[in-house]
Amino acid sequence: MMGDLLQFQEVKKYFPVKRSLVEGLFGVKPRHVRAVDGVTFGIQEGEVFVLVGESGSGKTTLGKLGLRVYVPTSGRVVFDGKAIAELKGDELKEFKRSSQMVYQDPVAALNPRVRVGDAVAEPLGFHGIGTKEEQREKAFKMMKRVGFDPPEEFYSRFPHELSGGQRQRVVIARALILGPKFVVADEPVAMLDVSIRAQILKLLFDLKKEMSLTLLIITHDIAIAKYFADHVGIMYLGQLVERAERGEMFRNPMHPYTKALFSSVPIPDPEANKKRMIIKGEIPSAITPPQGCRFHPRCPFVFDRCRTEEPALVRRSEGHLVSCHLYDEAGREAEKAAA
Ligand code: SF4
Repeated sequence: MMGDLLQFQEVKKYFPVKRSLVEGLFGVKPRHVRAVDGVTFGIQEGEVFVLVGESGSGKTTLGKLGLRVYVPTSGRVVFDGKAIAELKGDELKEFKRSSQMVYQDPVAALNPRVRVGDAVAEPLGFHGIGTKEEQREKAFKMMKRVGFDPPEEFYSRFPHELSGGQRQRVVIARALILGPKFVVADEPVAMLDVSIRAQILKLLFDLKKEMSLTLLIITHDIAIAKYFADHVGIMYLGQLVERAERGEMFRNPMHPYTKALFSSVPIPDPEANKKRMIIKGEIPSAITPPQGCRFHPRCPFVFDRCRTEEPALVRRSEGHLVSCHLYDEAGREAEKAAA
């Protein structure tokens, strides 16, 4: 995939489930949560890739795999042409400088006993960049850039002395102070009041342009994908089920799960609301995912083949990949017969 800064290549991440004493005594086989289960896609340099899915779809785990917070159980994550699990020494340090995360919850992300200016400067100290005075100067500049004006007035405050939006600005400043190439923003506005979400998103996208960042946004909010993405990926139960350029994805969603996600957004039209496609039930367990298509227990278009055969992620048009049997010839026939 030419031009990709980051690639996930058949990436799996399984977490072992702790066995109880009784299960151990009876020799119950170890089980795993298949948080990410064979994901392949690339993120182009300079683009905004928005990954959408319900809680439990594996999108946060995938984001952490992209930053080497987790190492894959199998498969490879490649950054700038190199498998990140194999990086060591200076190359690993350089990768850690080049890739950062903006966390969902600024309260949890900030140490309540560390002044916010020191929190912003901290990564510079960690990477041994500049003197204390230079670190402080850089932190002032970064704080000013994210909206603290004058920064001197805020530098010595503690996180609890700031509003939710200001705390998230601190988290963004700290993630960007090292001048990274790649940033994962995990639900960056989910914990904020609706009134300030747009401001924080605008700030993030202004900084993305200014600093030529490549951005992976993880969200359950379709509107973020609709207005900010270059490419959109849809995850369901550890797998990527659809991927397309933003315009194509919203003009022509193909996977039934994507259609249901999009139609779950309320619109002020009672007639159109009656036609909304509602997905029934909860997302199944990632320890024992359903056989065949993982979406089949909830899919309104399910037919026999879906219960036994896992659909592959197949290119259906230029840059548009979907994993659903409906678009194969047999699937079309089955759909007609069931209609
Ligand atoms: Fe639905 Fe079958 Fe397509 Fe899965 S493969 S999304 S069950 S139609």
